[in-house]
Amino acid sequence: MAQAAGWGGPRRLLRLLRDLMKGGGSAQSRLDRIVELVAQDLVAEVCSIYVLRAGEVLELFATKGLKPEAVHRTRLRVGEGLVGVIALRARPLALSDAQSHPSFAYRPETGEEIYHSLLGVPILRGGRVQGVLVVQNATQRTYTDEEVEALETVAMVLAELVAGGELVTAAESRHASGTSLLPARFSGVVLNAGLAMGQAVAHQRGIVVQQIVAEDPAVELERLAEASAQMRSAIDDLLDNPALGRDGEHQEVLETYRMFARDRGWLERIREAVRTGLTAEAAVMRVQTDTRARMGQVKDPYIRERLSDLEDLTNRLLQHLTGAQGPPDEGELPDNMVLIARTLGPAELLEYDRTRLRAVVMQEGSPTAHVAIVARALNIPMIGRCREVLSEAHEGDPVIVDGDTGQVLLRPRESVRHTFAESMALRARRMQTFAKTRDLPSVTRDGVEIRLQMNAGLLIDLPQMQATGADGIGLYRTEVPFMVRNSFPGVKDQMEVYARVLKQADGRSVVFRTLDIGGDKALPYWSGANDENPALGWRAIRIGLDRPAILRQQLRAFIMAAEGRELSVMFPMISTVAEFESARRLLHRELERAARQGAATPETVRIGVMLEVPALAWQLDALMARADFVSVGSNDLFQFLFASDRGNPRLSRRYDPLCPAMLKFMRELAHKSAEAGVPLSVCGEMAGHPLEAMALIGCGLRTLSMVPGSIAPVKTMLRSADLEQLSRFVRHLSDAADHSVRERLRAYALDRGIAI
Ligand code: PEP
Ligand code: MG
Repeated sequence: MAQAAGWGGPRRLLRLLRDLMKGGGSAQSRLDRIVELVAQDLVAEVCSIYVLRAGEVLELFATKGLKPEAVHRTRLRVGEGLVGVIALRARPLALSDAQSHPSFAYRPETGEEIYHSLLGVPILRGGRVQGVLVVQNATQRTYTDEEVEALETVAMVLAELVAGGELVTAAESRHASGTSLLPARFSGVVLNAGLAMGQAVAHQRGIVVQQIVAEDPAVELERLAEASAQMRSAIDDLLDNPALGRDGEHQEVLETYRMFARDRGWLERIREAVRTGLTAEAAVMRVQTDTRARMGQVKDPYIRERLSDLEDLTNRLLQHLTGAQGPPDEGELPDNMVLIARTLGPAELLEYDRTRLRAVVMQEGSPTAHVAIVARALNIPMIGRCREVLSEAHEGDPVIVDGDTGQVLLRPRESVRHTFAESMALRARRMQTFAKTRDLPSVTRDGVEIRLQMNAGLLIDLPQMQATGADGIGLYRTEVPFMVRNSFPGVKDQMEVYARVLKQADGRSVVFRTLDIGGDKALPYWSGANDENPALGWRAIRIGLDRPAILRQQLRAFIMAAEGRELSVMFPMISTVAEFESARRLLHRELERAARQGAATPETVRIGVMLEVPALAWQLDALMARADFVSVGSNDLFQFLFASDRGNPRLSRRYDPLCPAMLKFMRELAHKSAEAGVPLSVCGEMAGHPLEAMALIGCGLRTLSMVPGSIAPVKTMLRSADLEQLSRFVRHLSDAADHSVRERLRAYALDRGIAI
């Protein structure tokens, strides 16, 4: 990219900064000189430094260009104005027309109304925001990548100055939030369920780069080469962790990570930064900051994942360069730690002692994040997207992690801790009782057998089949192997996964659902359609039928994997019988092809349909005449029946699946399927909640598929229920006029001792 006219480049700026830092004077006088120097060097009319003070306030500490009387007077809260936004997001912001930005906050005392463009970067130290550095220009100009990088380098130097404690005392910074003793609650996204309580430990606050400017670049390049070699061999050791099973998508994640550590492009970018005059560690940080900035703009989840792996590697490389240890020595860590991090890479997580780690809370992260996949393999509760948790949490704070609801409580009151400890103990006791139900028959009190199956989507879920006594897998979501890769997996790769699933199922039935992408399930490398309403858009079977090559490859992989065994396949989001027929034809064609080629084929094939689109309800006769089984995807079905987005938290309590309409729908469906002799199941989340499951069996359902953890509670429920009585009650409720019949069902269960 073109460089700004007159700019001396990073080397010159670094040299000037080094000389300035070497000279004496107070911290304030250095700030004053730095703003002059940066403004001059970057040819900007304004350069200002804001420093974070107690109470999440950013105070203007030095400026060149704004009115001098604004210094120490202008204050913005984190999140307020453009400066506040930069601090909140901890990412650079470059705007050619800052005043038209919705977050622009005009402060008359500064006189900044005449400046149009703005470039700001956070001043970060050990992952925490310390302040913001800003340049402004009168014209509407576009800042180059090099200028952003230069400003970030200056911010690194400033971080050291702020940390010196002369500008804001260490005591003030420690309690910078001003609310550090009060309880705080955060809502995030559940990345791995489970409950935990422990003490907060901040991840990676320790690494602080002392020297920014290199004395001799050749020496720095050598140090870099040595550290990266050490890092690679340490990673090899780490990934051989015996706590991780050999089988599972996490292995693939870790292998990609290992390859990343050998990525030439990344190391070359660091070398380049060294050549501009930075020390090796400063160069690593420089590239990290840049990566983070890019991460903020990248929408593509796949690339985001890779960039966050890179962030993990960066920290690791820094450790080798600075000689800092990774996580503190085991002796220093509490044995009930809750790790709090901005983001965490898969290898970083592995470095903590599993026996001390109770849970992980992150500011970023998503369910398909590599670290989340590894956390599931290790069974560590994990919550992501807890904004600001890092700045609010202090080392040693008591933390409650409710990985079932996605809540994190910091510094909860004694009474809350006590209640939570009780519910954890209660849950542990219930788990023990549940463990005992594993081998008990799944029959109601009046002797009706209910088949309980589990939903799965990862190879690591499979051992749960044994542990819970599930009667097979009622829904195998096949998306995950597609999500952890950078392109569509080929037939052979897919086949291997499916074959492993069938092998582990050991004769119990497995229902594979064909790829259900689009809607709420984004594939990293598949931009698909930019639908205005993705849930109603080009998704699942619609893509499969329009791009038959993708679907046929998957069907081929199923066929090969099921050699000599039963193969059950179901198609998601079918809206018409004709669509089901087209999908079924594709499967038959693949079966014929395999037979023609003399390849081994499954012993039997069952082809089913997911009932998720209400239109199918009026095609049941034709559907039942063709389908071998029907499985209700109640998550999607409910959202379409009620025109209520399943992911919208505002609507999540508005309608209740336990309502007359849904009960009536299910009763009629169960009746039709019994008449036609076509097996029917429910595999949406409804099936896994004891009260909902109670209503479903009351509607006539005899097969339910759910997350493994729900099998024992649901079995306990049905073993205590009299189905005949229950069915009568549910029939009565399905004609009621109530908005929800949840409370009536609950009261019914409590009155009759049904364990919900
Ligand atoms: C459903 O919609 O109920 C279902 C089981 O599918 P998914 O949740 O994967 O969309
Ligand atoms: Mg669905």
